[in-house]
Amino acid sequence: MTGKIVRSDAEWRRRLTPEQYRITRLKETEPAHSGWYRTFDGPGAYCCVCCGEPVFHSRDKFRAPSPWPAFRSPAASRCVRERKELFHLVIRSEVLCSRCDAHLGYQVEDRSSPTGRRYLINSLALSFFEEQQEAVVLYQGRHGRPLAGCPEHPAGRLSSGVV
Ligand SMILES: [Zn+2]
Repeated sequence: MTGKIVRSDAEWRRRLTPEQYRITRLKETEPAHSGWYRTFDGPGAYCCVCCGEPVFHSRDKFRAPSPWPAFRSPAASRCVRERKELFHLVIRSEVLCSRCDAHLGYQVEDRSSPTGRRYLINSLALSFFEEQQEAVVLYQGRHGRPLAGCPEHPAGRLSSGVV
């Protein structure tokens, strides 16, 4: 992880689409079964849509569809931080980007997972970069090119939307 990113609420609102802003900065959840990455199965890195930090990887993604894209673990433990909260009398962990504090989703216990955990992450909080571009993404960070053909992230979205 490179330096921490802190921006004003107005700045985030300006840089993100209204949907991305509501999910990542206001902690809303996209409707179940609506996210584009839920059934997506390509090899590569899933980056925070706010700052470009690689937060999850396809190798850790559950292949079976779930209401939200589901991962067994983050790309690296330092990529995300978790904050426990009480929700309807159940303790769950909010998952945030370590670099910019974007709300990504939630982590719940899952005995069927090898890690005992399941990370349910909003598609709108992620940008996918296919495998052969990952080195470019990690090297160039947020200036990497979005995956061609991804309907949620037409080419140029990241470079023009996040600096
Ligand atoms: Zn971030």
